[in-house]
Amino acid sequence: MAALDGLPPLREVIATHGIAAKKNLGQNFLLDLNLTAKIARCAGDLTKCDVLEVGPGPGGLTRSLLAEGARRVLAVEKDARCLPALAEIAAAYPGRLEVINADALEIDPLAHLTPPIRIVANLPYNVGTELLTRWLTPPAWPPVWDSLTLMFQKEVAERIVAQPGSKAYGRLALLAQWLTDARIVMTLPPEAFTPPPKIHSAVVHLTALPAPRFPADPKILNRIVAAGFNQRRKMLRASLKSVAPGIEAKLEAAGIAPTARAEEISLEAFCRLARLLAEG
Ligand code: SAM
Repeated sequence: MAALDGLPPLREVIATHGIAAKKNLGQNFLLDLNLTAKIARCAGDLTKCDVLEVGPGPGGLTRSLLAEGARRVLAVEKDARCLPALAEIAAAYPGRLEVINADALEIDPLAHLTPPIRIVANLPYNVGTELLTRWLTPPAWPPVWDSLTLMFQKEVAERIVAQPGSKAYGRLALLAQWLTDARIVMTLPPEAFTPPPKIHSAVVHLTALPAPRFPADPKILNRIVAAGFNQRRKMLRASLKSVAPGIEAKLEAAGIAPTARAEEISLEAFCRLARLLAEG
């Protein structure tokens, strides 16, 4: 069946341009345009937004973002083999798609966009967490982007939305939930991708909060959360010992049992402790 945008089916695009998936680039492609349309819709109304897409590959999700009406899409792709296929999409949507052939970890594509900005990507799994962490640690909050709609390995998605008391709860959950409303909006089986990865995947939608959920100095919060979870089986009075003198009294003042472990502590309590430590 011909696609709505008049472009060839993605299998044909891949064959024509010789884009056989490479494992070292995390290439698991989505070839079903109904599925990419669903993912694009998870990002909400894009008609007034600039969209950053990392890793467009042969362009399935890119086509859906444009078909859903994104004002403009900037796509950053490391694999030069994908450029001719992406050029065909750019020609079908004049003036709305710009492609940068680069490693997304080495450039700051957000500087090229005009707010409101949304980031939507089926991320290469080997760089997904690194990119998310960078987007969640801009120089100041709120960031230039409004929301992130990102595909991860399901296990990583679960770490982003995890609650205290669960194995998945840790630094990523605390960072994401301090700054955003984060939800898993879709899960996908391996067969949705070509080639199929070994694991299930999930799309997480994160909406930037206007201000961090609870006040805290980011550096202090990061330091206690890192120390607590680096030794997650230790009691906090031990794992946080090197963070500040008299930590046991500070923990008690923050309403946290010194014998508790990091994975039992809520975001609110971590922020309370960070504020107490900031007072000296
Ligand atoms: N968006 C396409 C889709 O949904 O079918 C492809 C997704 S595939 C999981 C990840 C894509 O990211 C690949 O096209 C790969 O070449 C690209 N990629 C991998 N590492 C990258 C990096 N560091 N910077 C930019 N793109 C990268």
